[in-house]
Amino acid sequence: MEAKHLTHSTSKPDTGAGEWKFSDLIAEPHVRERWDRVRRYFFLRESTYDMTNRCNIRCEGCYYYKGEKQHAHEVGDPEKWRSLMKSEKARGITYVVLAGAEPSLVPELLTVCHEEMPLGSIATNGLKWIPGSIGYKIHISVWGNDDTSQRVRGAKQMLQRQIENYRGDSRAVFVYTFTPHNIAEADQVTRILAREGCKITFNVFSSPVGYTGALRHTESSLRQTRQAMLNLLQRYPETVLYSHYNAVSHTHHLGLHALFGCSYPRCNPSTDIGLGRSFRQYRTDLNWDRDAACCVPDTDCRDCRHYAAGSAVVTARLFRHACEPDVFASWLDYVDTYLAVWVTGYDKGVNLCQRWVAPPGHDLF
Ligand code: SF4
Repeated sequence: MEAKHLTHSTSKPDTGAGEWKFSDLIAEPHVRERWDRVRRYFFLRESTYDMTNRCNIRCEGCYYYKGEKQHAHEVGDPEKWRSLMKSEKARGITYVVLAGAEPSLVPELLTVCHEEMPLGSIATNGLKWIPGSIGYKIHISVWGNDDTSQRVRGAKQMLQRQIENYRGDSRAVFVYTFTPHNIAEADQVTRILAREGCKITFNVFSSPVGYTGALRHTESSLRQTRQAMLNLLQRYPETVLYSHYNAVSHTHHLGLHALFGCSYPRCNPSTDIGLGRSFRQYRTDLNWDRDAACCVPDTDCRDCRHYAAGSAVVTARLFRHACEPDVFASWLDYVDTYLAVWVTGYDKGVNLCQRWVAPPGHDLF
């Protein structure tokens, strides 16, 4: 979810690569307006932080409890976190993602981070309320209806408890992770969230390295997921933060890396510009490892369709989407969705492209 790469592209639009000049692509007033709106956020520069290695539940397929990072010791001193945030700011970071294992267990650290770095988001299971003074976006993970959550995550009445904590809270976005087995349940979950006035966006289960379990997607489940996403987007436009192009990008049989080329350090040896230069993924001991650094460490890159990954990988590819009007409009819809999900105070606009568009250079599926 790194809009910063756009700055490299937008300062000098590519006017020679195809028939369409960039000025033609933004000639329509409503497209121009969207472009002007989203490019105000190109200053965002992201890094991510594991706040604690504890969690109050255990979910099948959780990537936090894979690899080495789970064994890092915890630095629980708020002043050490404050000084980390100050040094992050000094090296140009403007946006923080506070994550694994369960950040709501350490509200004193979240408070310090927010005091130093006002823009960011928290990835939580939503079972413990995060104080309202912490003005980050709050992403609440949902893996199906309550029966499925009890089976896969070992928590009872999960959606009900999440809603009780975050109903009416403009920080909150529920993130529904599609697995091959919960596609039909998304309708019930979205209907409940719509009734409660909550917002939802979609994620696609992306296997941790070495995972061969039943949650891994197949081509068939990806196609079904794509159609389910579209149905929900059309049925609940006030509730669902998504677009056609989000659905295409995240349910393609090729993962995000194959489609767009991931620029997180794990996949990108270059340290010259963009994520390869600035992104770090801090563990609970406040150390980081460039070779493991991405927003979803220990995820299998070949199976990566994660919403957080796409927020950086797709938004960074302005050049290749600035080729014809529907492709560019689709990309704008993707960036508009990303901002509505990740940035406090940004409201989703009406999608500009209401049809399937293939990622440049690829088929639709
Ligand atoms: S897991 Fe995804 S975001 Fe991470 S390096 Fe691989 S492709 Fe990139």
